[in-house]
Parts: sequence; structure tokens; C-alpha cells
Amino acid sequence: MFATSWCSNGPLRWGTWRDNAYPGCACDVPSRLYSLSFAPNADWTRSYSAQPEIRAYLERIAHDWGITPLVRLEHTVQAARWDAESLRWHVDTNRGRFSASLLVLATGALSDAVIPDIPGHDAFRGAAFHSSQWDHTVPLGGKRVLVIGTGASAIQFVPRLQPTVATLTLFQRTPPWILPRHDRAYRGWERAAYQHVPGLEQLARGVIYASREVTFLAFRNVRLARVVQRLAVRHMHRQVNDPVLREVLTPDYAIGCKRILVTNEYYPALTQSNVSVVNTPIQRIVHDGVVTTDGVRHHGDVLIYGTGFRPTDPPLAPFVHGRDGGTLADAWGGSMRAHAGTTVHGFPNLFLVSGPNTGIGHTSQLYMIESQLRHVASTVAHMREHQLAAIEPTAAAQQRWVQDVDARMQRMVWVAGGCRSWYLDATGRNSTLWPDFTFRFRQRVQRFDAAAHHLTPRLAA
Ligand code: NAP
Repeated sequence: MFATSWCSNGPLRWGTWRDNAYPGCACDVPSRLYSLSFAPNADWTRSYSAQPEIRAYLERIAHDWGITPLVRLEHTVQAARWDAESLRWHVDTNRGRFSASLLVLATGALSDAVIPDIPGHDAFRGAAFHSSQWDHTVPLGGKRVLVIGTGASAIQFVPRLQPTVATLTLFQRTPPWILPRHDRAYRGWERAAYQHVPGLEQLARGVIYASREVTFLAFRNVRLARVVQRLAVRHMHRQVNDPVLREVLTPDYAIGCKRILVTNEYYPALTQSNVSVVNTPIQRIVHDGVVTTDGVRHHGDVLIYGTGFRPTDPPLAPFVHGRDGGTLADAWGGSMRAHAGTTVHGFPNLFLVSGPNTGIGHTSQLYMIESQLRHVASTVAHMREHQLAAIEPTAAAQQRWVQDVDARMQRMVWVAGGCRSWYLDATGRNSTLWPDFTFRFRQRVQRFDAAAHHLTPRLAA
């Protein structure tokens, strides 16, 4: 297990909840659900936990389950190659070669930070950094701060910066739809109850899971989506009095087309006198600020990119060589495809966690990850039981899976909602999200499907 960056030219990566340590970083899925099913945590202090608590939870699990000693820290993976003779993967790292019969890539879908190629971006003389590479050594108090982006990360850190900075200029390209966040601290007796009442934790988790699955319907039912959109409009009207600002903040696409954000703090922060929301497009970056296409120069001391990630173009893809020597990037041609979102034709014994079309917009990603890991476990059990050295999905099985996903996708607001989002890849396909209830994904990948795979028997010793 390698805990580091995939390719050698990027900064080291250690995971979502280590990298994303920006002020206000938290999860917008309730913690009782955003936790692993086999490691319930009665000690959550809030309904929606902040990054330090989630990170501590994950580190504690890694320790308690004996994972930590298995992790090779600071190993930068440079390439992985399938060896058709030995039927093994060879993984080259900056600290030598590792070989194994199975390779699981769990490098995350939202790990490759995007700094947009805005003309002049190198010219800025002040501190500049991406939200997932927050430079905590840069003091922001009393500074003029420029922020590009209004996605899930920015809406969390902007309210934290606003009270301390001199000015905050927020460059908005597309406004998000925002719903209220029902966050609160747990009382002592509630935490005691979760600790001592058998089954309470599981019950709470089940209720949250079920309510989240119901919200999935809004992503493919226009009428239901309109109801949700009305809630978002009401939320904005409650928090923003200025009609001009409200107009600037109102999206022109259907709710759900881009990720729906949840916060009670973002709109109030934008109404403060030291904040300006700029929705004129950026033309270029200059040494002391950002120039918009109307010619206005917005001065700043610090520039923060809340500009997201590139999940449709995984940084690992050009480094993984399959059965014929070609890479995942070659096989995908700009649009990721896999069988069960996990295995790829031409790449035996390779498993992708958070692979193509396994992302979700309405519930806990951990549910999908656990479903995929169950799939991997059932595959490995089948291989052991049937003395198999290698498995690989057939081209036909993979194509059937992808066609089914694509057909379901046509009904979804993500492709029909009139927006441009990171869910869509360069070819215009949504190769990131799962277009159905999450329990359906789990049902479908639960068991290894031998008929959908080429099976290579182990040679007798
Ligand atoms: P994001 O949602 O992709 O937002 C990026 C923002 O940057 C968008 O507003 C985008 O505008 C803007 N942008 C990008 N390039 C730009 C350019 N050249 N000029 C102007 N604006 C530009 O990224 P994120 O906020 O980091 O969130 C990414 C994902 O991480 C989320 O969708 C979510 O899945 C996950 N996340 C989750 C949580 C959580 O609580 N669970 C918290 C944070 C992040 P456009 O909209 O016009 O493209």
C-alpha cells in the first residue's frame, strides 16, 4: 500500500482529509453516514464533522485495524506494468520495485488539483495556492484576498476568511445552488446514548442513508427537482436581502446539474461590506491582482484557487501499462470506462477504487467505496477457490456495463440540466457519477460474475 503521489512531478498526496485542511473544511455528508460501516464512531462531536475530526477518525481506524504498518510512506509510484509471463504487476517507485498478483488503485478521484491556465498566472507576486494545498504559513489577517472559484471548497473557506481579511474579492464563473445545512453539536447525553444503546448507531446511520437515497430521485425527476430548487431559492432570499446580489448568485441551470452545496454561512459572508462578488469573467492575472474582461483591475495580496480537481483525467492513467503494453490513458482515450466501475478490459487483476461512474452527488462516497471493496474481496475469494491466476473483464461485458450506465445517464440532470461541470469528460460523457440508487450498485457488484470475465487458471507447480 503506497501513501504518496502517483507521478513524480507533483506534490506528495496522502488522501482527501490530510490534503484538504483549509479553514472551514468539513464534510457535507453527516458523519454517522460518512464513516465506515465496520467502524462506527459514537464519539462524533457534531452531525457534520470538520476535517480534523474526520482525519483523526481515519487515522485511528488505520491504527486499530493494523493497517498503518502496511503503508509505505513517501513511495512515489512512477509506473505499473502487467507482466504477462509471470501474471503479476510490477510497480516501480522512487524506492524500488514491488511485485504482486493484484493491483488496487485507490488514488482518489478528487486528488489532482487544478490551477487553471489563466494568462499571466505566474505573474502574481503575492502568495498563491490551491485550496487543497493550503499554505498555513501565509498570514491572511488584514490582507486583500482574491479567491477564484465558488465550489464546495470555496463555500466552506470563504466564510472563515471573511471576518479576518481586509477585503475578499470572489471571482464567480458559475453560481452554485445552495441548500441549508442542518449541522449541530451533539449533546453529552446523545453521545452517551450512541455509546451505550445497542443498535442506535446503526439505526441512525440507516435513517440517514435512506433519506439520502430518497433525494436521489430529484436528480432524475424534474418535478421533484423543482421543489428542491424552490428550497434553495428560499434559502437565498432568507440570507441575501440585496436583489442585485441575489441575481448575481442565482444559477441559470437546473439544481443538481452541478453538485448541490450545503451551507448556512456562505451567503451571509457575501453580504459583508469587505466582500465583493465579481461575476465578470477573468481576463488575466497580473503581478498585483486579477484583471477582468471589463478592464477592471482587482488588487490583492494573496490569491487562492478554489478551482477544484480533474477527476475525468486521472493522473495515474498514463503510467499503468496493461496486457498489451498500452496504458489506461490509451485505452480510455479521454473517457474512462470500466466493468462494474472497477475492472478494465486489457488490464488483468487491476482494480480501481472510485473508478469510472462510481461517484455520487447525494450520499456518502464511502458507501460506494465499501461496495467496490466487497467486489474486490469476492473476486479474490473466487480466484482462490477456483485456483485462478488472473481475471479480466471481457470486452463485451465491459461494453454492456458502460452502455447500461450511459443509457441511465440520459435521464439524469447531470447531462440534461444545462450546465458544464467536472462530472463531464472531454468527450462530453459523464464518466464520473453512478446514475442510480447506491444500493443498486452494491447489489450489482456484490458477487464476482465469472461469465463476464476471462479466467486464467493457475499453472500447476
Ligand atoms: P469545484 O466544485 O470543481 O469548484 C471549482 C470552482 O472553480 C468552480 O466554481 C469553477 O467554476 C471555478 N473555476 C474553475 N476554473 C476556473 C477558471 N478558469 N476561472 C474561473 N473560475 C474557475 O471544486 P471544489 O470546490 O474544490 O470541490 C470539488 C469537489 O470536491 C466537490 O464537488 C465535492 O465532490 C468535493 N468536496 C466535497 C466536500 C464535502 O463537504 N464533502 C467539500 C469540498 C469539496 P465553474 O463552476 O464555472 O466551473
